Amino acid sequence: MKASSHPARLAGSLALIFVATGAAASIPPPPTAAELALQGDDVAWSIAEGLTTEIGPRQAGTEAEAAARRWAVARLGQLGFANVREEPFDMPTWVRGEEQAWLTGPFHPQPLAIAALGNSASTGRGGIEGPVAYFASYDDLVAAPDHYVRGRIVFIDHQMKAAQDGSGYGYYGRARFSGPNAAAKKGAIAVVIRSIGTDSHRTPHTGVTSFEPGVTPIPAGAVSNPDADQLVRQWKRTLQMRTNETPLGYTPEPLRLKLVLTPQLLGPRASGNVIAEVPGSDPAASPVIVACHLDSWDLGTGAIDDATGCGIITAAARYVMSARQPRRTIRILWAGAEEVGVHGGKAYFDKYGAQRHAVAMESDFGADKVWRVDFKLPDSAKTVADRIAAALAPLGITRGRNPASGGADVGALVQAGTAAVDLQQDGTRYFDLHHTADDTLDKVDPAQLRQNVVAWTATLDILANSSASELGE
Ligand code: ZN
Ligand code: ZN
Repeated sequence: MKASSHPARLAGSLALIFVATGAAASIPPPPTAAELALQGDDVAWSIAEGLTTEIGPRQAGTEAEAAARRWAVARLGQLGFANVREEPFDMPTWVRGEEQAWLTGPFHPQPLAIAALGNSASTGRGGIEGPVAYFASYDDLVAAPDHYVRGRIVFIDHQMKAAQDGSGYGYYGRARFSGPNAAAKKGAIAVVIRSIGTDSHRTPHTGVTSFEPGVTPIPAGAVSNPDADQLVRQWKRTLQMRTNETPLGYTPEPLRLKLVLTPQLLGPRASGNVIAEVPGSDPAASPVIVACHLDSWDLGTGAIDDATGCGIITAAARYVMSARQPRRTIRILWAGAEEVGVHGGKAYFDKYGAQRHAVAMESDFGADKVWRVDFKLPDSAKTVADRIAAALAPLGITRGRNPASGGADVGALVQAGTAAVDLQQDGTRYFDLHHTADDTLDKVDPAQLRQNVVAWTATLDILANSSASELGE
């Protein structure tokens, strides 16, 4: 933990601002929203702790996700929000089955730690076995001739590198997002990828993949980084064996894999969004939307992805509400079924996309400290951005130059023109845990979670009280 993220240090640095604005009055002014957040009663932590402890894994379309919605409605009501409601929708539901993998030859057989990717086809209970076609990257797979792939189990290597802004996910993530589809089109019988993750533990990283219409899905899984290393060492030996004898005299045959993956597509099942509001004082003012996602992958308890995000946005909205009624309505969206295709975000846009939103924000990148703020605001809101940047500077948050994009669940709104502010979290260790069995509450640093809440509260307070001339109606 860095000293700068300690709550006492944050309180000290923010106090300077408040002293400057409030010390002259003989009667102390009521506490601001950010001051309330600093004195906070750990609303964010209690949401993350409660959701992960009482519900745990909550995969989209399952009974666990439905239980999480009921939990969310009860908790948001207890916290004093208005218009708390579930908004159901149906989505295609995929569930994990048995999952095992082995390197079966030419060396002594041994198991690999594997997790099926969302939308993977089943191998059947008997599994499938075949020779490996190795690719150093997704681009190499795309460039390969079909005959090199046909009838084989494709393996995509390409280890993701950690970055503070998490920017490697888009580049390396293509192996998961699009690799299985590319392999299927070339006639592969299955695909195994190196996990899209930056850790060195035997915890494979799951996540959704998708197949184009008309492409028959194939079995698809991710092995952990150490298991991918093992596979690659064997692959290299099979190449060497073509020219050299090995000590045990293995014959030069291709590397072989066996997979038993038995996931199922259950067809349409109910999911849903949970929405709550802080009603604004000006009924003509367009709302501010803050989002997280309620569903998680099934392997862990979804602490950093995304129980803490729901805790952060909700705590911030509550501190703003506690300080004074904001001018604009704050709409809190705990989206369903994000992990498997942003179904909740789409359902929200279908229902409310025609309504004007003043600005959109989302928290879905763990709970480590916010280090940068990005804006996508109209020119009329220049002073809003300046006020936010000034309020965040004492928290160690710098102003970025990239346009804000808002996050997955509000992405459709932002693409349709809604303004956005992104509070960028430190992603250095996010992909050690992302979509693994290790995404659990003990990984959340309460001091950094608190820094997020203070930053969100200060930002949301300014946005929710912005004028019509700044952010329009
Ligand atoms: Zn997420
Ligand atoms: Zn996720």
